Parts: sequence; C-alpha cells; structure tokens
Amino acid sequence: MTGASGASPDCIFCNSSEPDRAELVLFRGRVSFVILNLYPYNNGHLMVVPNRHAPNLATLSADEQDELMRLTRRAEIAVTEAYAPHGINIGINLGKPAGAGVLDHLHIHLVPRWNGDTNFMTAIGETRVLPEDMKSSAARLRPIFERLAHQDETAESAKNAEKI
Ligand SMILES: [Zn+2]
Repeated sequence: MTGASGASPDCIFCNSSEPDRAELVLFRGRVSFVILNLYPYNNGHLMVVPNRHAPNLATLSADEQDELMRLTRRAEIAVTEAYAPHGINIGINLGKPAGAGVLDHLHIHLVPRWNGDTNFMTAIGETRVLPEDMKSSAARLRPIFERLAHQDETAESAKNAEKI
C-alpha cells in the first residue's frame, strides 16, 4: 500500500531516515541515496536507491535514472578506493523469484568481490562472510562520497562557466 506521497509505511527504504537506518546512509542526493546493506554479503555491500517508492526501472523519471547511475558510478569508485576488491557485482533483483529482499522499491546492489569468495547468486542470503562493523564501514565510505560529490559539482560548474 502506498500513501499520497507514494511512501509505503512498511518499506525500509521509504523509512531510511529512522535513526537505526540513518546510520547506514552513506550519501543523499536530490532524488536518491546510498545505503549500506544491513545484511551484507561482503564488506562494503551497499545499495543505491531512489527516494520514491518506485517498483522498477520502467517507472523512474529521467532525473531519477540519471542520478541513480551517477551514484552507482560513485559507489564503484568509493568501494574500489576503500576496499580494493578484485571485482564488483552490480545488479538489480526485481520480484521475489529474482531474489529481491525488499519488494516494490527498486534498489541497485553493489557487492565487492574477492578471488575465492563463493558465487554471488547461490550464496546471497545463505553464507555470510564476517562483516566489518557497520559504523566502521560507514565511516570509511562517507568521506569518499562527499569528496566525489564535490568533485562532480566542481567539474560541472567549470563546464557551465565555459559556456558563458
Ligand atoms: Zn519504499
């Protein structure tokens, strides 16, 4: 069920401002945000999520599509810098049979991978590597997201200044 604002009362992403979840939030953009997965498959497992309770890519606005991809790009850079993984899975699960943990609110998973860890698709939700403490993960990643946002803004204003 969704209210007038489109927010769903039972949705963990619609309620990301509640204190226990707010400490997992790494960055807030204009129409989307980046949050650590509370049940990580690996250290640095995060999700890029639209603010709006949008169930799939089909219902996203151009603005949301744009920012989700920008934040996913920054997430790749941040996780690479903080954890130096050997690889990264980036993916979306739509619907229960596809393995979605939160239904009806789109989220892009970003999972750092290391040589020798088990297969993502079979292991997710089953075996978990002992994760780094969530607060430590957040403390490592937040400043990187801030810096990347600042870099993007600076690059954009330089580009706009050229046009004038
Ligand atoms: Zn939601």
